[in-house]
Amino acid sequence: MNFFVINSGSSSIKYQVIEMKTETVLATGLVERIGEETGRLKNTFLPGSSTSSEIVIEQPIADHYSGMMLVINLLTDKEKGVIKDASEIAAIGHRVVHGGEDFRESTRITPRVIEAIQRNIPLAPLHNPANLDGIRVAMELFPAVFQVAVFDTAFHQTMPPHAFMYALPYALYEQDRVRRYGFHGTSHRFVAGECARHLGKPLNESNLITVHLGNGCSITAIENGKSIDTSLGMTPLEGLVMGTRCGDLDPAIHLFLKQHRGMDLEAIDQMLNKESGLKGLCGMNDMRDIHKAIDEGNSRAAMALDVATYRNRKYIGAYMAVLGRVDGIVFTAGIGENDDIVRAESLKGLEVFGVRLDTLKNSERSREARCISAPDSSVHVFVIPTNEELAIAREVANVLRG
Ligand code: ADP
Repeated sequence: MNFFVINSGSSSIKYQVIEMKTETVLATGLVERIGEETGRLKNTFLPGSSTSSEIVIEQPIADHYSGMMLVINLLTDKEKGVIKDASEIAAIGHRVVHGGEDFRESTRITPRVIEAIQRNIPLAPLHNPANLDGIRVAMELFPAVFQVAVFDTAFHQTMPPHAFMYALPYALYEQDRVRRYGFHGTSHRFVAGECARHLGKPLNESNLITVHLGNGCSITAIENGKSIDTSLGMTPLEGLVMGTRCGDLDPAIHLFLKQHRGMDLEAIDQMLNKESGLKGLCGMNDMRDIHKAIDEGNSRAAMALDVATYRNRKYIGAYMAVLGRVDGIVFTAGIGENDDIVRAESLKGLEVFGVRLDTLKNSERSREARCISAPDSSVHVFVIPTNEELAIAREVANVLRG
């Protein structure tokens, strides 16, 4: 049984075809620069296998429909393709960024679901319309196939009001749903499930802190398998220091910037999302460049790393207090999976709460899930690679099972 996973952006479509019995990726690829003069499709069949093959097509791709047609033609190609025709796709999973308060779970796509995703556009004005483009095209091209929306926000809908409410006039929540939602939910849910498996404990009895550190970063407190707090807020700007996003900030800085630098709100928003975070502090947003610069004596790069890891530590400590008992801390995503220095710095000082890293295990490089805490650590610390596409496919399987 094959599932097709689609992550549709404003000018791109990321996709995978996964054979679900063995969870083998049959094809993975990216259509980029949709609507521009120089479109590009890069597809890999059977990635990581001995028969892996890569195809790059460069041509103008007018819209999402043309992009998807290009992908389907390649997937069903008589010589190189991995499926005969659309009937070999049993279900399709779509990543959708914002489900607002409408979706607590992944959901079969119906006209009412599409309407609800549309209703939530004000909460994610850049992402939801692009996700809807992908859904509409897939519904048109695969009218008979079971399709599921998997929301970044759904996992966090279990947060209680004391965690999701901002201390603002209540009317803003009542009338416009201004509250904290959280994101990266599919990743947090996935690594939490894997962590529980490694702990040999049912997920619904596990208390975990999952630390997703990529270009975007977030931490989630998970109690008995459910998200009870997370660091991203109404938008993906709150919380940790990210590649180009500032994370937590005194909101009065907006007024200061307007009054003293004459900036309007759009310019401030652009700055906080695109010019801040690690990039704002030291001019670099790739953690590998930052380490290289630190090795060469760049003190601003060192400061940026300190600001980011100190923030991580504050949140981990706060979530330990929120949870009381913690069975596992999980690091995941580009930085979390690869950067032993960030992991060690983010846990520094938490020894008093029983968190002890095994320095050697922490510094070993591997692509496998692994435990990196010392045998006498009362909290197990793990590195678990996230796999958003597989996570979406498993969600689809759950919905399909009903
Ligand atoms: P995205 O949020 O775009 O999915 P990723 O999860 O791919 O991001 O993470 C991107 C981040 O991972 C970048 O800051 C990059 O520097 C970092 N990264 C990737 N490989 C390494 C590595 N070997 N060591 C440290 N950081 C790494």
